[in-house]
Amino acid sequence: LFQLTILGSSGAIPAYDRYPSCQHLVIQNRYFLIDCGEGAQMQMSKLNLSHHRLEHILISHLHGDHYLGLMGLLFTMHLNNRVNPLHIYAFRGLTEILITHLRHSRSSLNFRIHFHELTENKIETIFEDDAITVETIPLRHKLSCCGFLFREKTKPRRIDKAKLFKGMLLQHIAQLKSGADVHNEKGEVLYRSDDFTMSPRKSFSYAYCSDTAFHPPIATQLNNVNLMYHEATFTESEKSKAVDTFHSTASEAAEIARLANAGKLLLGHFSARYRELDVLLGEARAIFPATELALESSTFELSA
Ligand SMILES: [Zn+2]
Ligand SMILES: [Zn+2]
Repeated sequence: LFQLTILGSSGAIPAYDRYPSCQHLVIQNRYFLIDCGEGAQMQMSKLNLSHHRLEHILISHLHGDHYLGLMGLLFTMHLNNRVNPLHIYAFRGLTEILITHLRHSRSSLNFRIHFHELTENKIETIFEDDAITVETIPLRHKLSCCGFLFREKTKPRRIDKAKLFKGMLLQHIAQLKSGADVHNEKGEVLYRSDDFTMSPRKSFSYAYCSDTAFHPPIATQLNNVNLMYHEATFTESEKSKAVDTFHSTASEAAEIARLANAGKLLLGHFSARYRELDVLLGEARAIFPATELALESSTFELSA
């Protein structure tokens, strides 16, 4: 499973039932929360997303609209007797904020937080296991800010069950699945992996491009990404405002998706000045047709 759920699509000021930035991502049983704007835990419970399963919370930068929901979520986890450790990734400063909260409320959480400090202006692998990698995407904003690129590794080959026959040893089947041929004691090939297996399922990738000025160099890192979220705070008519505040317009987001040859683009972080979002969507689609709005409660699944 590779599934993204949008919990918040709003820019700095929430408006029209849109919540500040927050996304929930599941990749093969690994659970991530990407940014944690105000209302994150309410949105999670509304959409029946369990916070028990969350293992990683990634905060792109320390503007309030990207982390003000964190304290509430952590206390709820605590009150619900969470014991599993939680990994939080953020720039320097967040630990100080958390510790201050805990000190003044005379609380200590009953689960452990592993804090991972992000590095500025540098692509960094912040998580890796046997199935996926997560790396940072350096962005240009008023504060240290980065996006996150999630990539599935090449998946194992699949056993072609129709080709198996009675009496084959389980250990031989496992060996064939791993891509290795099976030999007898004399070193002769007994079974070839290619004869008993099929090519692996497709691997997918997702890029979360948080608050940023138009920054085309990231397109190289994001080359051929399957799904891309890019902030689109303003329309073209507000371009000077975008430049002043280190944000992007919808057409700039689309230009990044086009340069990166993305499969699909999602727009979000909408300014409170727009009640209707058609103009933003139209401007982006003129440059990159496979664009959609990352609206609250919508889910996007990548599958073969
Ligand atoms: Zn923001
Ligand atoms: Zn910001």
